Amino acid sequence: MLQIKSFTFNPFAENTYLVYDDSKEALIIDPGCYEKQEKGELFDFISKNGLTPVKLLNTHCHIDHVLGNAFVKSTYDIPLWYHQEEEAILKAVSSYAPNYGFAQYQESKADHYIREGEYIKFGNSQLLSLWVPGHSPGHLVFYHQESATCIGGDALFKGSIGRTDLPGGHHETLIQAIRQKLFALPDEVVVHPGHGPQTTIGEEKETNPFVGKTASS
Ligand SMILES: [Zn+2]
Ligand SMILES: [Zn+2]
Repeated sequence: MLQIKSFTFNPFAENTYLVYDDSKEALIIDPGCYEKQEKGELFDFISKNGLTPVKLLNTHCHIDHVLGNAFVKSTYDIPLWYHQEEEAILKAVSSYAPNYGFAQYQESKADHYIREGEYIKFGNSQLLSLWVPGHSPGHLVFYHQESATCIGGDALFKGSIGRTDLPGGHHETLIQAIRQKLFALPDEVVVHPGHGPQTTIGEEKETNPFVGKTASS
């Protein structure tokens, strides 16, 4: 059975996810841990539950989602995977991190570029990658069909959508990608977003003011 543990880290209140199954192999997705105490919280949970992280994934590479990449890579010696179109987004983080107060940020390099439709395997499970650009050019959503859940990053939120005013963002692209890729999933699919509480595809189809049925565009 798939287990999803969430942590909320850094001043952006970013949700970091640990996804694992009965095999105890785990994926670490979007580690936003920066302060020592945040890194300790992630580390302690993994230790106490006897988990073995096997891959580090980024839904996209904005600063709040990658602050803990170097810590995770060095602690667990696991490969970093993200979409190739996030390369420039990640590169930019080093230049602006000090301005946001993250002087200790260290860049990590990709070990693999995830393609759309690729299955990411761990333990006895696999997540399907869905390309949902617009908030960021190479933004991915990781979908687990058997448990009807997905790790949504900053594409779709409860009652909102990702901002599109950052470099590489595009509003119409995001609206279209959510409707074509995420709203094609079953209504009961639970979305675990990069910020704020979880929601479902059905709830957002019904009530989301930007992409739901009452949206103006
Ligand atoms: Zn973002
Ligand atoms: Zn974010």
